[in-house]
Amino acid sequence: MLRFLHQGRPSCGILNGDEVIQLEGDFFTPLRPLRTCCAFSQIHLLSPCKPSKVVAVGLNYRDHARELNFPVPDTPIIFLKPPTSVIGPGEAVLYPAASSQVDYEAELGVIMKDRARNISPADARDHILGYTCANDVTARDLQKNDGQWTRAKSFDTFCPVGPWIETDLKPDNLLIEFYLNGERRQFSRTSQFIFPVDYLVSFISGIMTLEPGDLIITGTPPGVGPMKPGDKIEVRIEGIGSLKNTVTR
Ligand code: MG
Repeated sequence: MLRFLHQGRPSCGILNGDEVIQLEGDFFTPLRPLRTCCAFSQIHLLSPCKPSKVVAVGLNYRDHARELNFPVPDTPIIFLKPPTSVIGPGEAVLYPAASSQVDYEAELGVIMKDRARNISPADARDHILGYTCANDVTARDLQKNDGQWTRAKSFDTFCPVGPWIETDLKPDNLLIEFYLNGERRQFSRTSQFIFPVDYLVSFISGIMTLEPGDLIITGTPPGVGPMKPGDKIEVRIEGIGSLKNTVTR
């Protein structure tokens, strides 16, 4: 499933081979295919979701915890990124003047299907629309200085998401990678998760109501590091695809 610009307007669609089938509504009502509108190669992709909130998970990879010499947490550490931080494929991350270290964090994104709270882990998949690639861009120096994370994680453009939502996927053992200017800098598998997707959905929905299109980003693997203006950045996840963005001042 994808969102794209069609005749200057945001539209929702389904990818069928190289063809995009435009939907009459969105992903959250019964799907009503309208017509095949164009070739995939000719559309301008938008962020595949417009979340009311982005819920992010801190340390969630065993290998990343080991790398940092941190104990494995027994409760998920969560924080929020504002919806205004979300950008789509191909858009630029704007390097803020307030920071001199802006880091990439490749993450698996989980997109919710309906309004729900107090979801049990066993029911979590019934409430998930699908999965996408995300980048939890972080001003690391501000994160350290402030002692809490809101400023560091919340700048406009600090949450690239895409390229689309993969609905037919099991999230439990996927290769996740980050490439900086074509060079691989992060890789792991989601089997390294300390808290699996179903547990996270249950945990978070026990705190706050999740809305259709809300995005949960599930933590980053080892190898986080800084980016500079002019860099080309890419998150790749097995079974989903590749999210490419740039960095600019
Ligand atoms: Mg993160």
